Amino acid sequence: GIKFEKVVKRFGDNVVLDDLDFRVAAGERVTLIGPSGSGKTTILRLLMTLERPDSGVIRVGDDPLWHMERGGRLVKANEKHLHEMRKRIGMVFQQFNLFPNMSVLRNLTEGPVHVLGISKDEAVERARGLLDMVGLADKEDAHPTQLSGGQQQRVAIARALAMEPTVLLLDEVTSALDPELVVGVQDLLRDIARSTDVTMLCVTHEMGFAKDISNRVLMFDQGRIVEEGTPEAIFEDPSEERTREFLRAVL
Ligand code: ATP
Repeated sequence: GIKFEKVVKRFGDNVVLDDLDFRVAAGERVTLIGPSGSGKTTILRLLMTLERPDSGVIRVGDDPLWHMERGGRLVKANEKHLHEMRKRIGMVFQQFNLFPNMSVLRNLTEGPVHVLGISKDEAVERARGLLDMVGLADKEDAHPTQLSGGQQQRVAIARALAMEPTVLLLDEVTSALDPELVVGVQDLLRDIARSTDVTMLCVTHEMGFAKDISNRVLMFDQGRIVEEGTPEAIFEDPSEERTREFLRAVL
């Protein structure tokens, strides 16, 4: 699972996360919703250690990525340990971020071979299985530029899964797609959510998707959790006015 304990993140005077506490249990699928600028992407970036918190503890599994020493100094886990933890976290971004000069197959085998150290044959076999699952078995020799946005995003999802992550972070994965391509990617993620026990933390502006994919929804505003609950509770019967106002604006 994932744990944030009293996490503060500022950019200059802008307090983006304000003493944030939350946890995501292993196997849980949690969606973060809330207005633009409320700190959702920052949470994912902190988990990837792309950003540094100002204070607090962030854990993946039981291990802290960052922790406070006695005396209040914030310490990052050592690089070897961070490397081990990053291997367990898969991330899919809004922009597909595939390796542009590699074939689709190689996009999926590169990490498993070079980071996980599995054999090339095994990586290829795993990659082909995943390409089949995402409906792109016939594209293994294509280069990313030869694929549609939706196809590229499905490859990016397969690439993340090829690393067999325990945690999958999804950051607005359909925002850059043409509307008719959104459904295919959402259906795929829905299938993955049903068929695996990967822990998912998802940021999305698509409320229908949030409802389908998650066990729990966290509503953010100004770096704090305004309200949390099951998708049914949040979308059908929110208790906070701020949540109602947000949902009126986006639905
Ligand atoms: P959106 O839904 O628009 O993606 P968000 O909830 O994901 O928004 P974040 O991207 O986490 O919001 O940004 C939270 C705040 O932090 C915003 O006010 C943003 O301007 C600020 N911010 C994010 N990254 C930086 C940075 N590198 N430098 C300065 N300010 C930043």
